[in-house]
Amino acid sequence: MEVYNHDLVILGTGLAGLRAALEAAQQSKGELDIALVSKLQLMRAHSVAAEGGTAAVMRQDEGDSYELHAWDTVKGSDFLADQNVVDFFVHDSPREILHLDHWGIPWSRMEDGRIAQRPFGGHTFPRAVFAADKTGFLEMQTLYDTLMKHTKNINRYDEGFVTSILIENNRFAGLTMIDMINGRQVLIRGKALIIAAGGAGQIFGFTTYSETVTGDGLAMSYRAGLALKDMEFIQFHPTGLIPSGILMTEACRGEGGTLLNSNGERFMGNYAPSKMELAPRDMVSRSEMTEIEAGRGFPGPEGLDFIHLDLRHLGRDKILERLPLIREVTIKHIGLDPIEKPIPIRPVAHYTMGGVHTDIKGHTAVENVWAAGEVACVSLHGANRLGANSTAECLVWGRVVGEEAARYCANASAAEMPKDAEQEWAKIDALFQSKGGEDHYQIRKELRKNLDATMGVFRTGGQMQAGLNKIRELKERYKFISLKDKSLRYNTDLERAIETGFMIDVAEVATLGALTRTESRGGHARRDYNLRDDENWLKHTMAHFTSGGPRLDYSPVDISMWKPVERKY
Ligand SMILES: Cc1cc2nc3c(=O)[nH]c(=O)nc-3n(C[C@H](O)[C@H](O)[C@H](O)COP(=O)(O)OP(=O)(O)OC[C@H]3O[C@@H](n4cnc5c(N)ncnc54)[C@H](O)[C@@H]3O)c2cc1C
Repeated sequence: MEVYNHDLVILGTGLAGLRAALEAAQQSKGELDIALVSKLQLMRAHSVAAEGGTAAVMRQDEGDSYELHAWDTVKGSDFLADQNVVDFFVHDSPREILHLDHWGIPWSRMEDGRIAQRPFGGHTFPRAVFAADKTGFLEMQTLYDTLMKHTKNINRYDEGFVTSILIENNRFAGLTMIDMINGRQVLIRGKALIIAAGGAGQIFGFTTYSETVTGDGLAMSYRAGLALKDMEFIQFHPTGLIPSGILMTEACRGEGGTLLNSNGERFMGNYAPSKMELAPRDMVSRSEMTEIEAGRGFPGPEGLDFIHLDLRHLGRDKILERLPLIREVTIKHIGLDPIEKPIPIRPVAHYTMGGVHTDIKGHTAVENVWAAGEVACVSLHGANRLGANSTAECLVWGRVVGEEAARYCANASAAEMPKDAEQEWAKIDALFQSKGGEDHYQIRKELRKNLDATMGVFRTGGQMQAGLNKIRELKERYKFISLKDKSLRYNTDLERAIETGFMIDVAEVATLGALTRTESRGGHARRDYNLRDDENWLKHTMAHFTSGGPRLDYSPVDISMWKPVERKY
């Protein structure tokens, strides 16, 4: 085992990880020794795929306000967001837009030179700041370039696959990492850890997320003893391209795109007359599924019946200027030009609202560990996230945790040398030796199919119980997997196998949380309990690891600004 020591270790180099690194570098005037660890090449994090925008209040003179953004977020969350957290967020996100502006990001602009903003679902004001439909990519690039200007003290571990987070005596003690290039076993130690390892979209078969978003950070945190919060709340985005699930950004509707059923009707008028296609995602997804189930969809491949997303009336110029990537993708993938034809879409698994439980400063229950971005649950999104609030969250809490962790490192010493690293290597060696008959690729396939079938837009107790039984069967079978590739260089067979283990844990937590929550709220819509039940369920689910499966308990929601009311649009 090779051992490397740093001050601050950052697990994940998406928007949250890079923003944290930049803040820590600036705070310490480049003195802090920072490790950036990513199982991918640094710039390949899923964040580069973010298309539509980043939400911030920029036009108070024209009627937007912090209060309005906060209200939209709280109402969108179906009142499960912590309102003190939302309040902090809405005040901070405009600063992040301006920081990026000063660092040189090419925001899309209006004729008069001001930063342009487009409408997004659930926002009552055009609030999404954007850079064409390549927002995340340009944010990532700007952060990385700026980081390089502020410090030389960055140690990149690209293609370093982390297999466990070691927490001993309630302190972060190291990450075990396989260097994918040569299979070396590496221990990365530091005075503090920031977990910024992204979400878990791949636990579903039909998803917008990259192959690589497999919930590793969630599962590793959970196994290390950190609680996962509100994991039953999965967001279905209304517009996933048929048949791949590639995202057709909400900006399509923000720019004026409409949804049509097979009778050519703009059916959203029957579900959310005031907001139409720009109602929050959970509602639009349910409306689409209701239309499809009532036979007003179009027949699609492998049961993927669909709805039409129509951009034709926007005209060629607007599509080319505002949605160039969307056009490129539909032409390349299905040979369809949205200037001429409507796009086939349906709801698609998109976002994990839940995550590692943190306080308002992104601090976990462990003294020297913070979490930010999609892996974390600071409780901004509650039961349903508003579009464009996630990249904003990554920036806001990336900064916060970068600052907090850098301050901590200034006066801290590294934890003791961990004892558990050897156990982790022994597990991996055992996997190499295993002659078990189970195929982990098959297990992953069955897991994803199972979640599609049992944890979708609409859920029932019976389906979820069957789903949980299946997950537990897969968990048993997983004990008998073996590797086909026993080599050390770029052993993606090993990587996929370990990821699948992470996915099983995340799926189990999400499904158990959903089965136990006997109400409907935001992204969790039950046919057998179709109303929100504030009396019994206005609380966060907390899942704790035990060897026999997750143990659930609950924690209160901050409702210091608004009392919950019925959610109508
Ligand atoms: C197609 C798409 C479009 C989107 N569009 C928008 C949008 O317009 N607006 C918006 O607000 N939100 C959008 N979102 C959501 C938003 O982009 C994400 O929530 C956000 O970018 C997540 O950033 P992150 O930094 O938390 O994680 P990620 O960007 O996912 O980065 C995770 C990092 O963790 C690393 N990692 C993970 N596991 C391991 C491991 N085992 N070992 C080592 N490293 C590991 C990865 O290598 C990566 O570097 C979109 C999401 C998708 C999928």
